[in-house]
Amino acid sequence: MQAAAVAPQVVRAALTRPLTRSISSKLAAHVAPWPQRQRTARGGVVAQARNRLADLLADLKSEDVDDESTAPIVTKLEWQAPLGVLPYPDPRLRAPNSRIGCFDDDLRRLAEEMFEVMYKDEGVGLAAPQVGVNVRLMVFNEAGEKGQGDEIVLVNPQIINSGKMTNLFEEGCLSFPNIYADVERPSKVKVKAQDLNGKKFTISLSGFPARIFQHEYDHLDGTLFHDRMAAPVLDTVRQQLVAMEDAYLAANPGAQVRRVA
Ligand SMILES: [Zn+2]
Repeated sequence: MQAAAVAPQVVRAALTRPLTRSISSKLAAHVAPWPQRQRTARGGVVAQARNRLADLLADLKSEDVDDESTAPIVTKLEWQAPLGVLPYPDPRLRAPNSRIGCFDDDLRRLAEEMFEVMYKDEGVGLAAPQVGVNVRLMVFNEAGEKGQGDEIVLVNPQIINSGKMTNLFEEGCLSFPNIYADVERPSKVKVKAQDLNGKKFTISLSGFPARIFQHEYDHLDGTLFHDRMAAPVLDTVRQQLVAMEDAYLAANPGAQVRRVA
């Protein structure tokens, strides 16, 4: 996911739309000081972001959770360096993603390389299929800056439950440069996952981390953010999506891609 990257008036518009069923005050407080796309404007929120994430991580506890997923398991990770973000509508963004069964140096290196790509492209989250590795792995750092905030790696994540309250928030995606639009999602999620050593844990997320997580989690299921846009919102970006599809097909004649409806 790209830094939630919006002018203040857009944030306010997004948060006060009639479509919004409810907004947690925590999220509203969080997004209010997130004013611009420019890196230089982010400094003021970084310390707050770090404190909030530290609170969230304090919730983190070990739990023996059953793995309900039926996705196949890979025992050796392979990829070609250097990694780069695949643009929509690359078919690998829609391909099934395997669970990871190898908690080794390759996994650690892949996560590290994903962080490098994410920071370079000024994102706050990245899912492995976005760099062409079809496995259930995501990385994120809500601060969006190397050396700041907390780097979170979730291996084989699953959503245990989602809050009933939802909110609208303008999202971007590294696979869709310069496309931003509102997506409605639950404000809170409880997640189980494994860390880089294979240790299982659960974590409750709310606010911006919940937003980033759900966006990246969708990538692991081959779901892209425009799949979740309300019809009138999708209309505002359809032309840009079609332009990306046309450009991809011109560069990759005969590719089987799923086009926007
Ligand atoms: Zn994305």
